[in-house]
Amino acid sequence: MMIKLVKTVGILLLAFSLQQCSYSQSSSTNQKTKMETDKKSNSVYSRTDTNKVNLTEEEWKKILPSEVYSIARMKGTERAWTSKFEKFDEIGTYYCAACGNALFKSDTKFESGCGWPSFYEPVSKGSIIYAPDHTYGMERTEVMCGRCKAHLGHVFEDGPPPTGLRYCINGVVLDFEKAKEAEKNYQSKKQ
Ligand SMILES: [Zn+2]
Repeated sequence: MMIKLVKTVGILLLAFSLQQCSYSQSSSTNQKTKMETDKKSNSVYSRTDTNKVNLTEEEWKKILPSEVYSIARMKGTERAWTSKFEKFDEIGTYYCAACGNALFKSDTKFESGCGWPSFYEPVSKGSIIYAPDHTYGMERTEVMCGRCKAHLGHVFEDGPPPTGLRYCINGVVLDFEKAKEAEKNYQSKKQ
């Protein structure tokens, strides 16, 4: 009798914990999908506000899609040849995907063959900040967004003229706006 009771309780507990497990799993998946599609939840994103953005890692985690967060805040690197911007020659401006800061113009983009979108010059001096990076036994210069300090990639001195620089940038942290659309937005704001 006693053994049977223990068995029953055991089975009940097991069933309960399995249910708990599948429940928490599905709710976190839903949350992730929602966050990744809802760009409005990023309250610091602006293509006009030039004030510096200072958020905690926890706050960034809440407002950035996970793939942007892992590169912008955790200094990750996307796999080579995976960015839609790697072979992409539309005319327009590239913005920081974390905060909307203008970073590069399409006329400074070039085919470097390195597997990541490459540019020879940023939009302006202040649009990018630099830091020495000694990780992986290499001496490199890290480039970050001048407004929110998102990690973007690295700059190397083997680029084309006129600068001789190659800004090797993770496409995941770039937002692109076509020049025509930019012009249209400008016109509608004027009216
Ligand atoms: Zn930024």
